[in-house]
Amino acid sequence: MFCYQCEQTKCNKYCQDTGVCGKTETTAQIQDKIVSALIDLANGAERNEKHTQLIINGLFMTITNVNFDDLSLQKYLDIIKNAYYTDNSYNIKTLWDENDDTRSLKSIILFGIKGMAAFAYHARRFNYRSEVVDSFFYEALQAISKNKSLNELGALVLKTGEINLKALELLDKANTATYGHPVPTMVTTDIEAGPFIVISGHDLMDISILLEQTKDRGVNIYTHGEMLPCHAYPELKKYKHLKGNFGTAWQNQQKEFENIPAPILFTTNCMMPVLDSYADRTFTTSAVAFPRVKHIDSNKDFTPIIKTAIELGGYKTFQHRTGLNGGCVLAVGYGHNTVISLADKIVALLNQGKIKHIFIVGGCDGAKSGRNYYTEFVRKIPQNSLILTYACGKYRFNDIFTEKIEDIPHIMDMGQCNDTYSAIKIIRELAKKLNCSIANLPVSFVISWYEQKSVSILLTLLYLGIQNIRLGPGMPAFVSPNIMRMLINKFKIKPISTPDEDLKAILG
Ligand code: SF4
Repeated sequence: MFCYQCEQTKCNKYCQDTGVCGKTETTAQIQDKIVSALIDLANGAERNEKHTQLIINGLFMTITNVNFDDLSLQKYLDIIKNAYYTDNSYNIKTLWDENDDTRSLKSIILFGIKGMAAFAYHARRFNYRSEVVDSFFYEALQAISKNKSLNELGALVLKTGEINLKALELLDKANTATYGHPVPTMVTTDIEAGPFIVISGHDLMDISILLEQTKDRGVNIYTHGEMLPCHAYPELKKYKHLKGNFGTAWQNQQKEFENIPAPILFTTNCMMPVLDSYADRTFTTSAVAFPRVKHIDSNKDFTPIIKTAIELGGYKTFQHRTGLNGGCVLAVGYGHNTVISLADKIVALLNQGKIKHIFIVGGCDGAKSGRNYYTEFVRKIPQNSLILTYACGKYRFNDIFTEKIEDIPHIMDMGQCNDTYSAIKIIRELAKKLNCSIANLPVSFVISWYEQKSVSILLTLLYLGIQNIRLGPGMPAFVSPNIMRMLINKFKIKPISTPDEDLKAILG
């Protein structure tokens, strides 16, 4: 087993024998075979809708914390092999044995398209597709198996960021066209008495189906993790039984799910190995799977989960819960539509010196203690700066109460990692209004990474020419020293240091 695709990889080198994420050697081997078979498919099979969907699903299944179930992975591998088989099969081990820099660039491309596959998967559920995005999966997979110069691979790394931007845009269109533009909404962390279901992951269509199936059934729905922004979509918030948000950061789930009298549905990552204490009331769907855990198939009949919720009955009394900092209300709904409606005001306040700087603090959360940096960093940002956030890293600070700058909230939550398109649309609009380039905006990205979606997002930011990104909590193990030097020289990427030092460097 060789895996170094995520931030928590062992000793920041690679996982062998077993993954820090809980992935077994057998699981890793089947996932490697899936990627190898997808490369064969891209190289040899006809480019058509069936094969494209196989590629997108297959890549999604190999993202960190998505699928731990050997049976479902093996079944999927068989489906790919049935669709296309060659005796001259590519073996992903060839990639791991390439020289450091080639392996590094090809790994960046592979992990980037895994992240992009997740975005494309969600958009496709609403029938939003793009020929450009679809074709790139083939191009990138082919490149991984071919001899390419470092220059060619470098160009493909940036192209991954470029195409990922299209995938993000497509997903944004799919979500907002279906459920409306998010509107500012306050979400409680308290849990009411009575039956309830906790829904985790990123899939808006799944939560929408669950809300419809639980309507008038006396079962409340609570979001978990990256589902939190769903409260802001008009076509989802209209359901009165969408009550609030359960729990804190995803990496606390084993502790937080242990004793709850309710079922949990995982629609995507981030799922940690499911403990025996709650396995019998845990459900998965789509690409997510875990041994012993019941899987809801593509018919999306959530009856077993609803029955479990009613049987368990929920809490007998109202439960007061808080976020990581003691707050009990989370503000969501600051997607591009909302923030751009405030853009004239933000620009006026910037010109008047009442807003000094805009920080984009977001990305994936994780278990490492060094991630406290992001809580401290946000706490230390002066009140005359705005903070835009996205993805699950915000759980480090999204319950901290802050004052507004005139009518503009000090912290604005743009949504999931899947909603990073909002950040890009907002900074483009600000640059237009301030008549400058994105690079010259008083905007700094301070981001945390964990899995492969954050790799694809980082590539998009680099493609857009955004410099001086502060990245943490550590640098990716799959970036070789030479490639890291190139990134630092060209894009001025910086590892996070301390909140004080970084704030001083940014604000002067
Ligand atoms: Fe290790 Fe991350 Fe791979 Fe899991 S996904 S095996 S933690 S590198």
